[in-house]
Amino acid sequence: MTEHSQVIEEYLLLLYKMDHAGEKAKAVTLANRLETSPPTVHATIVRMQRDGLITVKKSKELFLTKEGRKVAEDIAYRHNLSEYFLCNTLGIPWYEVHQHAHRLEHAMTPVVVKKLAEFLKNPKFCPHGTPMPGSSLPKDTITLTETTAGMTVEIKMIGEVLEDSVDLMKILHEHRIMPGNLHKITEISEVMRSISLESKDGPLTLPFHVADFTSKIIRKTM
Ligand SMILES: [Zn+2]
Ligand SMILES: [Zn+2]
Repeated sequence: MTEHSQVIEEYLLLLYKMDHAGEKAKAVTLANRLETSPPTVHATIVRMQRDGLITVKKSKELFLTKEGRKVAEDIAYRHNLSEYFLCNTLGIPWYEVHQHAHRLEHAMTPVVVKKLAEFLKNPKFCPHGTPMPGSSLPKDTITLTETTAGMTVEIKMIGEVLEDSVDLMKILHEHRIMPGNLHKITEISEVMRSISLESKDGPLTLPFHVADFTSKIIRKTM
């Protein structure tokens, strides 16, 4: 696999995540998300097209090519493996590891990745519940916004999109919104666009935009 610059790896990872979340990607959305100027984004997109990593449709929508997806999956794996290592071996709190992993993921050679995976005994999920390649969430997993009041749910995954905000992650942590924990849905308010949960650690209300993209869950009886 050819080596790509850190900038290109960032773009690929973002496109990959957006694709997973069902979001359409265009140059303008990338510029906003990466807080980069449109001309800079444009220049990078041209380079990525030239390298066969993405295609740009007439609608200006960006798509990963087979090669682009392969590289993105590899970065995502390095990211999740780094998170697991930082959390479980070095003891950095799960709500903080994303930022550190973001740096590490670009510095790992294939040999380091292989050895680290062996050392960690090939973990199946990152500390936020994101499945590693070859693993997946249970089939009946749904998002929090797809639940109904009265349901008891087990948190399975906190989406990567949320991990960018350490403050938000800390709030989730304080309310034990983390993989493996059970919560009861007490109210879903369309008017307030929020969802209220309760667990043994107390009640919490989450806005839809957090509940929607982010926490994936599975029904379970408490
Ligand atoms: Zn992460
Ligand atoms: Zn993660």
